[in-house]
Amino acid sequence: LPLWRDPSDAVSLATRQRTGVPAFSVVVPAYNEAAVLPAFQQRLAAVMDRLGAAWEVVYVDDGSADGTAEIVRGLKATRPEVALLALSRNFGKEAALTAGLDHARGSEAVIVIDADLQDPPEVIPALVAAWREGAEVVYAQRRSRAGETWLKRATAHAFYRVMGRIAGPVKLPADTGDFRLMSRRAVDALLRLRERHRFMKGLFAWVGFPSRAVLYDREPRAAGSTKWNYRKLWALSLEGITSFTTLPLRVATWLGLGTAAFALLFGGWVVLKALLYGDAVPGYPSLMAVVLMLGGVQLITLGVIGEYLGRIFNETKGRPLYIVGRHLPSGAERE
Ligand code: UDP
Ligand code: MG
Repeated sequence: LPLWRDPSDAVSLATRQRTGVPAFSVVVPAYNEAAVLPAFQQRLAAVMDRLGAAWEVVYVDDGSADGTAEIVRGLKATRPEVALLALSRNFGKEAALTAGLDHARGSEAVIVIDADLQDPPEVIPALVAAWREGAEVVYAQRRSRAGETWLKRATAHAFYRVMGRIAGPVKLPADTGDFRLMSRRAVDALLRLRERHRFMKGLFAWVGFPSRAVLYDREPRAAGSTKWNYRKLWALSLEGITSFTTLPLRVATWLGLGTAAFALLFGGWVVLKALLYGDAVPGYPSLMAVVLMLGGVQLITLGVIGEYLGRIFNETKGRPLYIVGRHLPSGAERE
């Protein structure tokens, strides 16, 4: 199959290749990945060279402290396809990804992949093949999760199911990470979403476009250590839920309605009982129970409102999503 879809595309592609714009960009967020990057680059280059189109790889150094940027510069010296985008500090994977997508020049498609070789670069040709068949977004879906604890697997599973239930028309494909290919059109659409609270999986899904899944086996990390822990995963899940649905606010309303209805019935019963049988001032336990229960419900509800309020606060500040410390674009003529 040809790389392009129609003849006019082919012309513009040829022109772009002459002017040095690659057809494919690979965006790789990297935070303290110095140990794996050379192996990653080697496997990636072997795969990309065989695609038969100009490509570049944008390494986003997300404020690493282990010399990741120096490693990338070393790789760049041997391969002009390498670009380095070093952020001024650690902004987190979601911001690093956005930075990489902002600076990816690939005119046909952009591939997002982790640096730790958990997403095998060898899957990329399958992603590209599905894209050539017409899919605008091709996501790699895990068939297995080798090297992850059952607890992580169970929590991930639960999260996808919950999100699937509450996110309405936006469908989050289960068992997919950020490893995917997006057409230039899909990337441009995605880049129009500039919210500060970025739940990338959700943003990818929100953009839409015809999508396809390609199954693969997730490998254990090649080297280095995971940057995730359960605190971060909990934060990410909250992010996912609060940036895609206001359902918790509605649940708070239901809770309020429910307790009000209960209070009405209970209050009626207390009055009726006092009228019929008189009242010898008992009721301290029931009073305590009701007061504590209501207090708890109110605090939870306030917390839910606070989550949304905090996010509104962060969005209104209008700060940039990331700050670039240093940018060395791909291409032989530079550096
Ligand atoms: N990452 C990043 N910034 C961060 C944390 C992670 O750019 O603050 C990158 C990391 O280098 C890796 C990818 O995001 O390429 C996935 O991270 P990790 O492997 O730690 O997550 P896991 O695969 O365990 O979910
Ligand atoms: Mg990983």
